[in-house]
Amino acid sequence: MSQATEQIQKSDIKDILENSLNGKRPSPDDCMRLLESDDIYLMGLVSGFLTRKQFGKRASFVNNIILNYTNVCVTDCKFCAFYRSPGDDESYTLTLEQIESRVKTAWDLFKIRQVLIQGGHNPQLKIEYYENAFKLIREKFPHVGVHGLSTSEIDMIARVEKSSTKEILSRLKDAGLQSIPGAGAEILVDSVKDVISPKKISSNDWIRIMQEAHEIGLPSSATMMYGHVENKKDIVDHFYKLVELQEKTQGFMAFIPWNFEPNNTLLKEEGLVEYGTGGNQLLKMIAISRLVFDGLIPHIQSSWLTNGVGMAQLALQYGADDFGGTLIGEEVVSCTGARSTELTDKIIINAIHQIGYSVEERDNFYNTVKIL
Ligand code: SF4
Repeated sequence: MSQATEQIQKSDIKDILENSLNGKRPSPDDCMRLLESDDIYLMGLVSGFLTRKQFGKRASFVNNIILNYTNVCVTDCKFCAFYRSPGDDESYTLTLEQIESRVKTAWDLFKIRQVLIQGGHNPQLKIEYYENAFKLIREKFPHVGVHGLSTSEIDMIARVEKSSTKEILSRLKDAGLQSIPGAGAEILVDSVKDVISPKKISSNDWIRIMQEAHEIGLPSSATMMYGHVENKKDIVDHFYKLVELQEKTQGFMAFIPWNFEPNNTLLKEEGLVEYGTGGNQLLKMIAISRLVFDGLIPHIQSSWLTNGVGMAQLALQYGADDFGGTLIGEEVVSCTGARSTELTDKIIINAIHQIGYSVEERDNFYNTVKIL
């Protein structure tokens, strides 16, 4: 780090980077200065150093598929190109047989360790649909973890059932749900949500449902979708709302920052966002994520889905330690036309080996399946 230390000395953010090297988390004001700084390389130097200190030259990934079980949705988010209104000719909902067949194929072909189950807010689906699906997967494919349903889907089920989200979470856990994806957070600031997803749950509801999940032993990931109508202060608020909850529950296993893809979305149509934010911003967000969450949220995921494999390789140098999943079958991001959305384990393994790292195949809970 000696050459790096010299460069850090000349930087406007040297105090923040030095604090990070000494184990002191950036304050919200520091986080704002990081967001305003152009010293992305130096942030990456420190965040990469902190990551390698913890994980060595190793990156993990999970062999998984995405089951987008329905595209029927009544929430009309302006950033979404995936959903169809009830009754639309292109709407679909997978049957239990279709779910079983997809998981079976993925298990037979790829020995997947996780099914990521996400879909629209479909008012026609009762809780039994989810319970039956989870039970079926856990009973027939015991090595496959069920990682599913964003907080806003859980809220939708609670509204359909006229029940509490706590009760719904508990029933879903009993049926086999093992962990919850962080989707639906977008930016945890209501003035932003009011523009991009006015019908979706509020930031406080997202935090509350996550807390309820963590408290009954359902861990989760957390996400941030940036690069639309938010400002830097909103990003800072998002980071520190997650810090606050994690200090209470320790329920977040991973953080995944990903950039908004504007194609085919209402946000682009209405002229609110023209372009995606690109690779430079991704590296900055990954680096800041590691600096903010170091010692608190263990894993930072590189987001290959919206940025491609090459950027994910770079993200592993800038603070990410996990490549994410193979995500075969993903349909939400692919509706925006954003790059390839099929990635086999071989491509991920090669991509990690290409940067001189060893590969850890992991399960749903970030336990090692094998080292490659
Ligand atoms: S992001 Fe989810 S909740 Fe929003 S419109 Fe798309 S499917 Fe519906």
